[in-house]
Amino acid sequence: MREIEPTQMTVRIRTTWPALLPEERLLPRSRLYDLAPNAVGTPWCESLTGYINRLGWTHHVPPRALVAQEIVPRLDEESRLIAPVGVFGTKQAMSLNGAGVATKPWVEVLSDLTSRKDLLLLTLPLWVGNLSPRWQLRETPAWCPSCLSAWRTNGQPRYQPLHWMMRMVTLCPQHQTPLIDHCPRCQKCQLVLTSSKTQPGECTSCGHELGANANGLSAQEESSEHRAWQKWVWKVLQELQVSMRINGLIPWEAFFRHLAVYLREHKGHSQLAQVTGIDRTVLYRWIDPADAYSPTLEAILKLCYVCQVTPFQVMNGQLDQLQQTLQAKKERQSPLPHRQNQRFDRERCQEALQGILDSTNEPQSLRQIALQLGFRDAHQLGYHFPEECKLVIQRAKAYRQQRKKQRLAHVREQVRQAVLSVHSQGVYPSQKKVNPFLPPALMRLPEARAAWHATLQELGYEP
Ligand SMILES: [Zn+2]
Ligand SMILES: [Zn+2]
Repeated sequence: MREIEPTQMTVRIRTTWPALLPEERLLPRSRLYDLAPNAVGTPWCESLTGYINRLGWTHHVPPRALVAQEIVPRLDEESRLIAPVGVFGTKQAMSLNGAGVATKPWVEVLSDLTSRKDLLLLTLPLWVGNLSPRWQLRETPAWCPSCLSAWRTNGQPRYQPLHWMMRMVTLCPQHQTPLIDHCPRCQKCQLVLTSSKTQPGECTSCGHELGANANGLSAQEESSEHRAWQKWVWKVLQELQVSMRINGLIPWEAFFRHLAVYLREHKGHSQLAQVTGIDRTVLYRWIDPADAYSPTLEAILKLCYVCQVTPFQVMNGQLDQLQQTLQAKKERQSPLPHRQNQRFDRERCQEALQGILDSTNEPQSLRQIALQLGFRDAHQLGYHFPEECKLVIQRAKAYRQQRKKQRLAHVREQVRQAVLSVHSQGVYPSQKKVNPFLPPALMRLPEARAAWHATLQELGYEP
């Protein structure tokens, strides 16, 4: 379907009001519905971008149109978008869920528009504190098909929880199945801010039902080590959120201070570096208050996991377990199977890529090939074989374009035949008369409507 330009849209804002009860007359009215965010203050809290999407859907307009017409014009000069909303909404908008510079001004505008005071709670800093925002958020939203499906079945609202946006959460805490970030039908990532009127739980590109049978790994296929790591991550995130609710901003300074004292007193730098696999010089930077370097949440959690303590325990100076682990040098297997730890079988990959390029079968996407070779994404392949990967991408793109052309030619032919068929019965082939001969919603395609006009011209109905 043709993408609707946000600027062409008119946001339908509530303009008529039901009769107010006397006590309601004094309440301030909000310009937009005061839509309540889902699960605020819990680990299943909605994400800010998910909330903006739902706000658009609630007003029956594409969320990007709502952003373009209602939010962006109210931002101050400094916070205005440099990129068009369409570009911003594809990936960059993800930063709104974190400690991005735009987060606060956007929340302020949204709070004014909806009269809600709890929207800052839909962002990561209100969960994990003021740590470096690096590597916290995914580029595009992920989702759990089983959750979407269960919510639909139970009649619960479908939404995008904040933890689906976090890189560290790779398994659904409820179902223990992998979160998915590519549509199983069109293989595309999901837009952060939706451009069309697809509903929550539908692919933002092709409209496919994302809660339909999961096309990923089942819980049993995940290694027990990976599952243990993810269970632990979820436990720690819950602990951090409870701490945040009770004590306010997470005291990460206390974490580094206690770690520094312990390492100084026990001369434990080398042991810790050995057990965690983190470079010694990097560890020194972690605990040096004069150094502006800040480790990522992922690195901190990895250190805590292999040392069998939680960040909360370190913040509170409970380091007995850390000491025991370091003294026993009981290293847990690294929870993060990617990057430097993964051995790259160059020959096998080259052979596979060459085989695929030589074959005349339907071209696969680079991501599909990477998954088949046992990688979680295509980064390593791209790094080692840039030329081959470029060819794979080009071939897949050319194939998709060719398929699209064929599909559109088929659509045009279907419409033409339907118009001719109605005309042959002596009836004017209006869209209403033609529709029953065609698949549902086909006439919504601009190509179908163009074919309808062309055939009317051919029959002399139109000049
Ligand atoms: Zn789930
Ligand atoms: Zn899709």
